[in-house]
Amino acid sequence: MRVDIFTIFPGIIAGPLRESLLGKAIADGLIDVRVHDIRDWSTDKRRSVDDEAFGGGPGMVMKPEPLFAAVESLDPERGRVILLSPAGRRLDRDLVHELAAEPHLTLICGRYEGVDERAVAQLPAEELSIGDYVLSGGELPALVVLEAVTRLIPGVIGKEESHEQDSFEDGILDHPHYTRPREFRGMEVPEVLVSGDHARIERWRREAAEAKTRRNRPDLLA
Ligand code: SAM
Repeated sequence: MRVDIFTIFPGIIAGPLRESLLGKAIADGLIDVRVHDIRDWSTDKRRSVDDEAFGGGPGMVMKPEPLFAAVESLDPERGRVILLSPAGRRLDRDLVHELAAEPHLTLICGRYEGVDERAVAQLPAEELSIGDYVLSGGELPALVVLEAVTRLIPGVIGKEESHEQDSFEDGILDHPHYTRPREFRGMEVPEVLVSGDHARIERWRREAAEAKTRRNRPDLLA
């Protein structure tokens, strides 16, 4: 899979690409991530990428010219073009799976008041939100999409921590996890987990997952 990320702050994205599972997936060639600085397609001396909003009001807007030129530099193969935006379709488990099946994603990070609306219709780009709150830029949302999608690429996570047991995969939350020591500050791990009885453990995990879902996310059971 290939992912192109367009941003005016490539430095925000660089660190996470070197670390942990994402860094290893890139080093192992399981995913090809290319980060592009939109300013490289700006044509003035100041390398400007924003301008005042038509109609007035506070805040700047990302100009269409450098952004369109940047994305068009990928032609003819842009893949699925996504503009990170609080106004977009909200990211969830199903959308992550849908994106993970794509061979190529192009992620555009907005800044300021957002990007000129003509990008949505004319690039075209589909808008994607990571939740109902507003961040200062699309770089962290792009990394959220990238990490969620990367986890689903075969070979990225080991069999023992298969994503099939993760929260949301079968509609409910994951079961609680425990590790050594068996007793910590007076709290014992549930006896069933050290019983060696795999059928009982499976039953306990299912019930504990359902109880946790009822407590924390009753909407998932509705
Ligand atoms: N004026 C915009 C609004 O109220 O919808 C907010 C713009 S925000 C300050 C700047 C950029 O951050 C956006 O263009 C987008 O790329 C990114 N961003 C902020 N919140 C986001 C979210 N929840 N999901 C995805 N991207 C987001």
